[in-house]
Amino acid sequence: MARACARLAAFPQAVNGPALPFCMLNKFKRFLSKPLSKKGDGDYIALGPSEHHIDDALISRGALQVIETLQSASFEAYLVGGGVRDLLLDGKPKDFDVATSATPEEVKKLFRSARIIGRRFRIVHVRFGREIIEVTTFRSSHTEAANDNEAQQTEEGVLLRDNVYGDIASDAARRDFTVNALYYNPAKSELLNFGSSLDDLRKRCIRVIGDPETRYKEDPVRLLRAVRFAAKLGFSIEPASEKPIREHADYLSHIPAARLFEEVLKLFTNGSATATLASLRDYGLLAYLFPSLDYCLNRGNETDNKLVSHACANTDKRIRQGKRITPAFIYAAFLWPALRASMRTKVSDQNMATHEAMQQAAQDVVSQQLQHTAIPKRFLIPMREIWALQLRLPRRDKRRAYVTLEHPRFRAAYDFLLLREQAGEDLDGLGMWWTRFQNASEPEQQELIANAKRDKSSRPPRRRRRRKPKHDSEDA
Ligand code: ATP
Ligand code: MG
Repeated sequence: MARACARLAAFPQAVNGPALPFCMLNKFKRFLSKPLSKKGDGDYIALGPSEHHIDDALISRGALQVIETLQSASFEAYLVGGGVRDLLLDGKPKDFDVATSATPEEVKKLFRSARIIGRRFRIVHVRFGREIIEVTTFRSSHTEAANDNEAQQTEEGVLLRDNVYGDIASDAARRDFTVNALYYNPAKSELLNFGSSLDDLRKRCIRVIGDPETRYKEDPVRLLRAVRFAAKLGFSIEPASEKPIREHADYLSHIPAARLFEEVLKLFTNGSATATLASLRDYGLLAYLFPSLDYCLNRGNETDNKLVSHACANTDKRIRQGKRITPAFIYAAFLWPALRASMRTKVSDQNMATHEAMQQAAQDVVSQQLQHTAIPKRFLIPMREIWALQLRLPRRDKRRAYVTLEHPRFRAAYDFLLLREQAGEDLDGLGMWWTRFQNASEPEQQELIANAKRDKSSRPPRRRRRRKPKHDSEDA
């Protein structure tokens, strides 16, 4: 009972924040104006279909099947997290997460395509064709761990392992934000609302469950998650949950580079890269993800600022249009301002050839970045190719233009070239030349090549020979 009360206390009941748009407000008004039907046996209130209006047709077949199989085997199973949140917001869920009373081993036995993954946080991936359903066993607080195998923390309080299993109520209390702690059981069309979850959703408010500072400290990635959800959903962050973000941005330095890379992907590939970047800068979090970018943007260089904001806007637009995006392009843009500055210094101060300056600058910029976020090879190599092609694109004599056109990374490099021009780099109409060249007939292409100015930028700068002063000999 004491445990249940503590869990209830973790969910604050009152919220502040801007209200939902009118259409959504009506939907929420409908179920919040009704007396909430029945109290569950845990710490939740259960709502029926006439109250929550969730459309099961929007739930993936894979997720429904996982839940049905688990329930048929006498386990509890619910849809949880972003899937439920987005269904209630009339959004299209990106993916579906399932929470269950079955242990990872028990889940694995039920599905041939299941794989247990993770050490810090063990979950099961169940694959249905291209879709992966994340199945998580109900957790309890790490403070209830019986041994180091279940939960472990660093000296700074960061959780290294978080595998203490529990029941649905303890599971709801260990989730990050109230709006992510709603559970839906499709078999009964029942939505379980813990504490202020629905109320916060209605008021478009991100609120940490429990004491914000403690929860950020035990997993600093939650700092980024708060900013990501607020930017993506257009929600505000409730003041007590917001205050520690600015104050404890440095907690992020305790997170391994590999995990931060995964978070960077989620931050910039969810269709709200522009809003997310602005927010990350505002809260002082960008310095822990992309320190060189943060430095360059803070210097106030207009071209750098434009390049990065156009890269974000283009990424968001492509996602809206259902087009493919690659993290290699985003990384190429985010590290370009530092690369350009470093190249310039090497050329002007060290008299280095452009090509060599690019190679060395890329090496420096990448190795500095790797101390903060990992960059897997499958993105690192294309990113460096996009950069290297920026030096090849101006060289269009003889057959070079055709060779460049055939390069597997040409399209991304061409898009990057346009981005640079859009940002205000003066490239002497190079983007337009390549646009024409791609669409031209062969004779037209030959003419374009003939008319292209020979580019001298990639050759080493000529060293001036020092003339012997005339008076030298005279003096002798
Ligand atoms: P998205 O739309 O990005 O998938 P999501 O809320 O589903 O959003 P996931 O990363 O898929 O986010 O996580 C699923 C759920 O797991 C979350 O909604 C939240 O309840 C819980 N969760 C994820 N990461 C954490 C964390 N670091 N701390 C506490 N709970 C977490
Ligand atoms: Mg999810």
